[in-house]
Amino acid sequence: AIAVRNLVKRYGDTAVLHGIDLEIPPGQVSCLIGPSGSGKSTLLRCMAFLEEATSGTITVDGEVLGFSENSNGMRERIPAATNRAIRSKIGMVFQQFNLWPHMTALGNVSEALRTVHKMSRKDAEARAMEQLVKVGLEARAGHYPSQLSGGQQQRVAIARALALKPKIMLFDEPTSSLDPELTGEVLNVMRDLAAEGMTMVVVSHEIGFAATVGSQISFLDQGRLLFSGPPSEVFGKPRHPRLEQFLDTYL
Ligand code: ATP
Ligand code: MG
Repeated sequence: AIAVRNLVKRYGDTAVLHGIDLEIPPGQVSCLIGPSGSGKSTLLRCMAFLEEATSGTITVDGEVLGFSENSNGMRERIPAATNRAIRSKIGMVFQQFNLWPHMTALGNVSEALRTVHKMSRKDAEARAMEQLVKVGLEARAGHYPSQLSGGQQQRVAIARALALKPKIMLFDEPTSSLDPELTGEVLNVMRDLAAEGMTMVVVSHEIGFAATVGSQISFLDQGRLLFSGPPSEVFGKPRHPRLEQFLDTYL
C-alpha cells in the first residue's frame, strides 16, 4: 500500500500541490486524471521520491518515505539507507522510455541488477529475461532501442522497472508518446500486471483503461484532488462540471 497525507509541493512561491490525500491499498489500481499542469507528474515524482515534497508524508507499506513529520509539522529526514530500502519498493515508468541507446533490451533490463544490486551477469540476465518474457519481448532481447518500436521500447522500460521487484508501480502517461496502434500492447501489459495484483498508480488519458482497470479514479485539478471514487461513480452521471469539461477535451 502507498499513502499520501496532506502533501504540499511548492516551487519557490508557487504551490503546485495543495495538500493531497491519497491511499492505494495493496493490489489496487488508482488512476489519476486531470488537465495539463494540474500536478499529476509532480505528485507521482513526489511519491517516487524523485522530488522532495515541501510538507506532508508518504508511507509505503506503513513505512515513511523521505521525511517523517511530527504533530507540530517538524520534518525529520529518514536515514539514507532506510530510505533507499523503502524507495526500492517503488518502480516508475515515464512517458519517455529513457532506455540506454547503446545497450540491448536485455542490457537495459539487467543493468541496474548488476550495478546497483551487484548481481552476477548470469543471474541478472536470467532475471531480466524473465521480465522480457513477461512483457512479450523474449524474441527482442538482443535488439537495441533503435531497432524496437515505441511500444516495444516502453515494454522494455516496464520490464526494467519490474526486474527490481517493486511492490508498487507508478506510471506517468506511459502511452502518451505512442501511436494509437502501439498503445494497446502497453496497456495490455499493464492490465496483466494489475490482474496479478500489483499495486499501481497510473496517470493516463486512456479513459477506457481507467474505467475498466482502475479500482479508484482520482481527479486532480489545479493541485487539488477534487474527488476520488470507483469508476462507476466518477464516470457515471451526474458528473462534476470540471470533470465534464475535462472529459469533453479528451473523449
Ligand atoms: P501534464 O498533463 O501536462 O503532464 P501535469 O498534471 O503532469 O501536466 P505537472 O508537470 O505536475 O503537471 O506540473 C504542475 C505545475 O507545476 C505546472 O504549473 C508546472 O509548470 C509546475 N512545475 C512543474 N515542475 C516545475 C519545476 N521544476 N519548477 C517550477 N514549476 C514546476
Ligand atoms: Mg505530467
